[in-house]
Amino acid sequence: MKNISVIGSGTMGNGIAHVFTQNGYKVSLIDISDEALERALATIGKNLDRQVQKELISEDDKTAALGNITTFTSTEEGVKSADLVVEAATENFDIKKKIFETMDAHAPESAILSTNTSSISITKIAAATNRPDKVIGMHFMNPVPVMKLIEVIRGYATSDETTNSIMEMSKNLNKVPVEVNDYPGFVANRILMPMINEAIITLHEGVAGVEEIDTVMKLGMAHPMGPLQLADFIGLDVCLSIMNVLYDGFGNPKYAPCPLLVNMVTAGYLGAKTGEGFYKYTKGSKDLVVSDMFK
Ligand code: NAD
Repeated sequence: MKNISVIGSGTMGNGIAHVFTQNGYKVSLIDISDEALERALATIGKNLDRQVQKELISEDDKTAALGNITTFTSTEEGVKSADLVVEAATENFDIKKKIFETMDAHAPESAILSTNTSSISITKIAAATNRPDKVIGMHFMNPVPVMKLIEVIRGYATSDETTNSIMEMSKNLNKVPVEVNDYPGFVANRILMPMINEAIITLHEGVAGVEEIDTVMKLGMAHPMGPLQLADFIGLDVCLSIMNVLYDGFGNPKYAPCPLLVNMVTAGYLGAKTGEGFYKYTKGSKDLVVSDMFK
């Protein structure tokens, strides 16, 4: 596999493009607007600069990496010569379904179509194509250039050949792939999200405050970040939507999202991206300040 198309150039898409180009692949980066693509290239450039400053790569490596990326605003054009597509567009089934139908019609017959979805069923996405054996989950972690794991998710019809190619390809990216099956939340979010939800229930029931809960998990369990701070970093809307996938998928009340999480999302307190969640965020400051709501 030489030619990789990455669909969606947001937080994950630009990181995925960065990792592929840095490892010598040719990348077609696709988004719906030129502005989104320009922002993505600027972010990749900045992140490569940081690697140059740390002497991890040379200035020439940076130029070569940027030179290997071509941008497209048309999926039809951008996947034409793909050996592998990694879809990292907005987490919405209808958007992904349309993208997979388009890719299936325009990518070469031999191309593997993968998705970076956090929670949508791979089997359901694969059903939008005529090649479900070549559809697979490649769940990169955020920030992509830093995090080692790729959760490789087999849909119901994914072939051994497709799985083996993606496991091998992931190692070529200097990542560690882990193969899992397609159940709600896969492995990462099935374990992480209920833990975050339980931390929110603990806060909601007044067992302890925001800082106390995060400190217990940081110092007691050696987590680099407490669950409430992590929820703010991921986005509370994303956490809620994944809890709903688990709740709907298993039909088990243990996955019911905490009412406090639901209320915060409804009120627009989504965490770092809106400036406030369990903590308050000020541009340029790294101080962790508990939100007034929880003082
Ligand atoms: P994002 O909102 O930062 O980026 C999504 C991008 O997709 C946007 O630039 C948007 O313009 C583009 N897009 C929307 N519709 C499109 C279309 N039809 N064609 C091409 N581009 C389109 O989102 P993100 O956080 O990068 O998430 C992308 C995917 O990665 C989601 O499936 C998400 O669940 C998954 N994911 C996210 C994280 C995370 O921490 N953010 C971690 C793992 C997986």
